[in-house]
Amino acid sequence: MSLRIVVCVKYVPDATGDRHFAEDLTVDRDDVDGLLSELDEYAVEQALQIKEAADDAEITVLTVGPEDANDALRKALSMGADKAVHVEDDDLHGTDALGTSLVLAKAIEKTGYDLVVCGMASTDGTMGVLPALLAERLNVPQVTLLSEVSVADGKVTGRRDGDTASEQLEAALPAVVSVTDQSGEARYPSFKGIMAAKKKPVESLDLDDLDIDADEVGLDGAWTKVEDATERPARTAGTIVKDEGEGGKQLAEFLAGQKFI
Ligand SMILES: Cc1cc2nc3c(=O)[nH]c(=O)nc-3n(C[C@H](O)[C@H](O)[C@H](O)COP(=O)(O)OP(=O)(O)OC[C@H]3O[C@@H](n4cnc5c(N)ncnc54)[C@H](O)[C@@H]3O)c2cc1C
Repeated sequence: MSLRIVVCVKYVPDATGDRHFAEDLTVDRDDVDGLLSELDEYAVEQALQIKEAADDAEITVLTVGPEDANDALRKALSMGADKAVHVEDDDLHGTDALGTSLVLAKAIEKTGYDLVVCGMASTDGTMGVLPALLAERLNVPQVTLLSEVSVADGKVTGRRDGDTASEQLEAALPAVVSVTDQSGEARYPSFKGIMAAKKKPVESLDLDDLDIDADEVGLDGAWTKVEDATERPARTAGTIVKDEGEGGKQLAEFLAGQKFI
C-alpha cells in the first residue's frame, strides 16, 4: 500500500519586504512579494526523507491561499513533492486559524492521507496551532515539534527535544506531525527538479468543492478579530559608546542600568 503523505505549506509575505496592514486590518498581501514559509521547507524535507525510506509513498503539498500561493507549491514540487492541491476562494480573505484548519481538514480528507506533515509555525501568523487544530478536526493523533521523524510498520515515531530532556514519541497512522527547524537542512531544488515541477499536477479547489459555507470562513466567519493596529515606533540608533579607556565601565553601568546584570 502506498504511503500517502500530505504536507501543509503556507505562502507568507517576504519578511524582508515592507509588511503592513490593509484597511480591513488584515495583512496586505497585494503588493508584497511572498514565498513558501521557510519553516515549511523543513516539513517538505522530512516528508521527502520519509518517502525515500519507504517502499512506496506519494507526497501531496497543500496550501490555502491567494493565487500567488501557487509559487509556494511550485517551490515544494521542485524540491521533490509529487503533486499539489491549492484551495483558493475570494471568500477565504481574512480567515483565522480555526477557519484555516476547517478548510485544510476538508481538503486533506478529500485528498486521502496516512500522514500529515506541518511546519512548527508559519513565519507571519506564527501561532503554531494548526497541527493541533487539524488533528482535532481529523480525529487522529498528533505528534508535534519533532526534530527527528520516521515511519515504519504503520506507525510514526520521532524525537522531541526540550530544554532539559528529549522525548521519544510514537503514534499509529493516520496521524498529524509537525517538525522543527532543527530537523535537518532543507534541500535546494535542483535545476532538474525545477523543470520537473512545471509538469507536476496542481489541483485547484474552492469552498464549493469542499462543501464549506462562506460564512464559516473569511473575516465574517473569524472567531478572532484585529480591532486596531498601530505601527511600531521606528528603532532608535541606541546609545553609542566611544571607548576612551572607560568603555568597559560605561558598558557595565549601561547593562546594570537595564538590569541585565
Ligand atoms: C500577523 C497575523 C496575526 C494573526 N493573528 C491571528 C490570531 O490571533 N488568531 C487567529 O485565529 N488567526 C490569526 N491570524 C490568521 C492566521 O495566521 C491564519 O489563519 C493562518 O492560516 C493560521 O495561522 P498561522 O499562520 O499562525 O499558522 P501556524 O499555526 O503557525 O502554522 C503551523 C503550520 O500549519 C500549516 N499552515 C498554516 N497556515 C496554512 C495555510 N494557509 N495553508 C497550508 N498550511 C498552513 C503550515 O504547515 C504551518 O507550518 C493571523 C495572521 C497574521 C498574518
